[in-house]
Amino acid sequence: MIIKVFKYLLLLIFGLLLIALIILFAGPVWRHWVTYPKLENQISEFQKLRKEPVKLSNLNVYRGVLHAHSFWSHDSEGTLFDIIPAAKNAGLEFIFLTDHPRGNIDTIPRGYNGNYERVLIQPGSEKQGFDCWPLDSVVIDWKLNKDTIAKNIVSNGGIIFYAHTEEPHNWGNPDYQGMEIYNFHTDTKDETLAPHIANFLVNGNKYRPLALREMFDEQTHILARWDSLNMKRKIVGFSAVDTHENQNFRARYLKDGRVEWVGPNANVIDTMEVKWWNKWIFSKPDPSGWIFKFMVDTYNEGFNYITNYVLADTLSVSSLATNLKKGHLYTAFKSLADAKGFMYYSRNENDSINAILGDSVRIDQVKTLDAVSPFPGQFKLIHDGKTVNVSTEEDYQFSWKEQLKKGAYRIEMHIRLNGKLIPWLYSNPIYVY
Ligand SMILES: [Zn+2]
Repeated sequence: MIIKVFKYLLLLIFGLLLIALIILFAGPVWRHWVTYPKLENQISEFQKLRKEPVKLSNLNVYRGVLHAHSFWSHDSEGTLFDIIPAAKNAGLEFIFLTDHPRGNIDTIPRGYNGNYERVLIQPGSEKQGFDCWPLDSVVIDWKLNKDTIAKNIVSNGGIIFYAHTEEPHNWGNPDYQGMEIYNFHTDTKDETLAPHIANFLVNGNKYRPLALREMFDEQTHILARWDSLNMKRKIVGFSAVDTHENQNFRARYLKDGRVEWVGPNANVIDTMEVKWWNKWIFSKPDPSGWIFKFMVDTYNEGFNYITNYVLADTLSVSSLATNLKKGHLYTAFKSLADAKGFMYYSRNENDSINAILGDSVRIDQVKTLDAVSPFPGQFKLIHDGKTVNVSTEEDYQFSWKEQLKKGAYRIEMHIRLNGKLIPWLYSNPIYVY
């Protein structure tokens, strides 16, 4: 009798487990065979719509990442072998790193600093909720009050931006020059992990960018915060990929011939002897020494996911930094379409351009607010957090000729994929005073 009950119970558990697995994997399998091939096709069709806009500014556009991690951070193992090919693949021209310091004293520069195969790397730091790039040789004592550290960096010409803007900050501190308006890590925080793991197991290889994109949510609270801060003072908006290349399982040889397993956040999880029965898992070491890799958040996909487009005179740290602080940048989801060529500007009575994104302009000197884009989309004009106009047609250009009020006017663009309009580009505002 007991054996019989036990048998049924086992069968029931097995049945429930099977149902759970079917529910968990049905979506990913459907996406693999139906949704993703269709979506991939639509993205490549959309990308054919690219039209090169006329250059409207003397400044050049440089693509780059602000807020990423390398081996210098305790939770990353990233080296140039991974970073540079990924940056080149994504068409990046600069990376402003934000490595976590190793202790309370941080000396900058450290780690990677300079031009590596035409990719400019500037070291910075991320701690206590800010991204900073002192742009100079400094020693930061992280035991000091955070606002004091910020003040010191800014008064020496450095950059301080709010990082992880989903968390509380001293929003009123006037030293901060900008904030993350999108951070991939922030975006993933509200996700239930199991469905994404299942999706990644099925689609992580063939459709990795689309599988990562599955976690996207529009960051409405953060954008609202950005708008409200911009009503009081200028706060530059930028995107952070926050790539660590660390949500992975990897293995490498130790000096004594044993194998070390490294798990998420670059934590060593085990070491083992290489035996005849486990040898087959390992391949020849790659340039970074890995003999086994199961990767989720790679630099390759991270750098391509969302990109900052900075308008600057030259590809140099000083020019990039100056223009970053001015808000001469827009940010877009590059894996959908490359936004290089977009421009947002104002014109005066004589139709001459008198301000570009990030600039301030006197109200009696603006006749129109205009934008051009390399791809057709829906333009949204937002004034101090309120949408004042949404273009009815998906177009390559936008012009707003109505009477303006004082305040910050920014542009958002949505593009149509799979029949739906989805957020694609965020521009810094033009400040009308
Ligand atoms: Zn980070």
